Amino acid sequence: MSMGVNRREFLAAGAAGVSASMLALGAEAAKPVGPKRPIVIASGNGLKTVAKAMELLRAGADPLDAAIAGVAIVEADPEDHTVGYGGIPNEEGVVELDAAVMHGPTHGGGSVASLRNIMHPAAVARVVMKRTDHCLLVGEGALKFARAHGFEEINLLTPDARKIWLHWKETNGKDSDWIAPPFDELDEVVKKFFGIRKHGTIHCSALDTHGDLGCTTTTSGLFYKIPGRVGDSPILGAGLWLDNEVGSAGSTGRGEANLLNLSSHTIVEELRRGRDPKDAVLEACKHIVATNKNPRLRDPKGRPNFNVSFYCVAKDGRYAGAALYAGGKMAVHDGDDAKLVDMAALYDMKNPE
Ligand code: ASP
Repeated sequence: MSMGVNRREFLAAGAAGVSASMLALGAEAAKPVGPKRPIVIASGNGLKTVAKAMELLRAGADPLDAAIAGVAIVEADPEDHTVGYGGIPNEEGVVELDAAVMHGPTHGGGSVASLRNIMHPAAVARVVMKRTDHCLLVGEGALKFARAHGFEEINLLTPDARKIWLHWKETNGKDSDWIAPPFDELDEVVKKFFGIRKHGTIHCSALDTHGDLGCTTTTSGLFYKIPGRVGDSPILGAGLWLDNEVGSAGSTGRGEANLLNLSSHTIVEELRRGRDPKDAVLEACKHIVATNKNPRLRDPKGRPNFNVSFYCVAKDGRYAGAALYAGGKMAVHDGDDAKLVDMAALYDMKNPE
């Protein structure tokens, strides 16, 4: 393991508490800064992520290490209920995390799925990539592996996430013996949250000053999922993909749609064929529409009744995002500043469900 001169920066990545030092595990030593313009992109919850990753790229960090340190801020944020600590748990009230990483210069990849008790699954995924002969570890095996490498265990279920889960449990199923309190007596966090979103994730792709790429996707997955359900985020080709000669892509939204289309791989292959980043991400949206045959997942107009978003950056620094439905934004740091940018879309708006 090499711990480069940027170790201090990783420690300051914003992760609360004990496992922050593990963010440096497997990180490369900083390199002299190269001549190219760096770019970092992320999903819309990633403004702080792109800012942190850019700061590290400017200090010569490896692009994957920069992306991992960037998403660690969101993984450690108890207010983000879609990623890491504070994530909404599975149907039994247990938080299970999925994450993957890809490293352009070595074309390496690693991932963990259904990982419990560890705040920074993307950092564990990097160790899977670097310290095993495998790409994916799941469940108990992934946890034992993380423990073996010194990742500390914590309870990922915050009091707010527990209250949100409890309300779901108490209102889920007409024959249930669990009883929800009257609406006025609900905790504010439950009132504010309930019925708004069913899932979320963060993806981050970074292009460094040498033109090298790295990316990661990390999530607590679908809210109240069946224990053991794994989405697209830890599946190379589905929730993220890169080719260091071409570009990097990732996704958030209904993971099953990406598992059935290997969407992130599609985007990079579209870039390879010379498509513009915007056309490449829209192409992935079109594949989902074309293959979404399940009547349960179609609205009255035959469109998907769910959303999926894509983000990509090409080797030359051009980037784009697109979703099935309009209104989404992605986070970008283009070397000047961190900003939210509108994404393209196939459809203006979703039918009310
Ligand atoms: N793609 C994630 C999953 O299916 C969730 C999300 O991004 O909303 O687990």
